[in-house]
Amino acid sequence: MSYKGHGGKEIVENVLEKEKAKEAIQGLTQIPVRRQIAHECISLSYGFFTPLQGFMGYNDVDAVCKDMTLEDGTVWSIPIVFDMSDDEIKKYDIKEGDTVLFTYMDAPLAMFEIEEIYEYDKKFMAEKVYGTTEEKHPGVKRTYEYADKFLAGKVTLVNEPKFNEPYASFWKTPKQHFEAFKEKGWEHVVAHQTRNVPHTGHEWLMKYAWFAANEDLTVDTLKTGVLVNCIIGEKRKGDYIDEAILLAQNMLRVAGYFREDVHMVTFTLWDMRYAGPREAVFHAALRANLGCTHHMYGRDHAGVGDYYGTYDAHYLLKSVKDKLSIKPVFILENWYCPVCAEVTSSAFCAHTKEKQKFSGTLIRSIIIDGVKPTRLVLRPEVFDTVMECAEKYGFGSPFVTDKYLTDRQPIFTLEPMDVGKA
Ligand SMILES: [Zn+2]
Repeated sequence: MSYKGHGGKEIVENVLEKEKAKEAIQGLTQIPVRRQIAHECISLSYGFFTPLQGFMGYNDVDAVCKDMTLEDGTVWSIPIVFDMSDDEIKKYDIKEGDTVLFTYMDAPLAMFEIEEIYEYDKKFMAEKVYGTTEEKHPGVKRTYEYADKFLAGKVTLVNEPKFNEPYASFWKTPKQHFEAFKEKGWEHVVAHQTRNVPHTGHEWLMKYAWFAANEDLTVDTLKTGVLVNCIIGEKRKGDYIDEAILLAQNMLRVAGYFREDVHMVTFTLWDMRYAGPREAVFHAALRANLGCTHHMYGRDHAGVGDYYGTYDAHYLLKSVKDKLSIKPVFILENWYCPVCAEVTSSAFCAHTKEKQKFSGTLIRSIIIDGVKPTRLVLRPEVFDTVMECAEKYGFGSPFVTDKYLTDRQPIFTLEPMDVGKA
């Protein structure tokens, strides 16, 4: 079976099996890493970020910032870096050429072979990646918060995460995505990027994109699928809780709005950077690495505030589409129109006075009130799932609260391992 991902590159898989891992980590210097880095180690090791083998070096970061490519010319839009302060570097007594052990939640996670220690101008990085240097942009803020040194090198997973439910049901490595699509008989797969509970506007987007992705295939053979790939990562207060996102998306198929053989829900561990157009390009690489052939892009993809124009992501994608391994499907804004009596799009509906835009804020306030919205906007099964998740996982709320941030069920656990003496 062939696993060709972004840039036509073989999917990376740097994962040591248990016995070998136990041996390899004996005596290594242990460095505890924060959640973002732990998640990125997992994503890197399984090949979600193919062709990256690990955290990026200076030349790659510089090419990403200046040309939106890696040093070798492969399109890449967001730096994937590991940062450390001089004090920590001194404390751990590490240098280029060393191999260290990253730990997370008090257990070994990954080996890191330090190839390079360097500095990079964070303001320049922010300007190039986010198009702004304003700290109130969450991606810029994250960039400024990096410590002063970056460490580059290969990352190898030594302790595979054991995902807890409901995550376990939706977890697939990139190679397992390829295998699942083959099993389904899907020749074309269109990716849907989400961190939301689906309203009927999202459902329409996925269905419209399915037709676009069906292209030269025929409708009755069902060789095209929709992959709903949820982003699971940093949560902010007011976001939907992760469990509700996964289970509500899945409910669209369970409740029959999508047939069993055209729809699948999985997730990727990734902290949204809200880089708008550049994040859209990153998503194209990410989903190519899952074996998707198409990727849908609606209005203001991965944007925040008013930093990016409604269709800036479409324009940037168009400019690099020949160098991508996935075909973008561009979709205009949609809404519910009572005159058309359906979810429709700015491409069709001229009832500008009557149209009812999908407002996340409105749907949110309805859910907070516990009132079931009309099925034309939110499917009742989806609503019920969201409310069940609120009780089961969200301490009574389907939205992230302080309590959820501190007491939520862990996404995965890591088994303890004997690491010997450093
Ligand atoms: Zn209309």
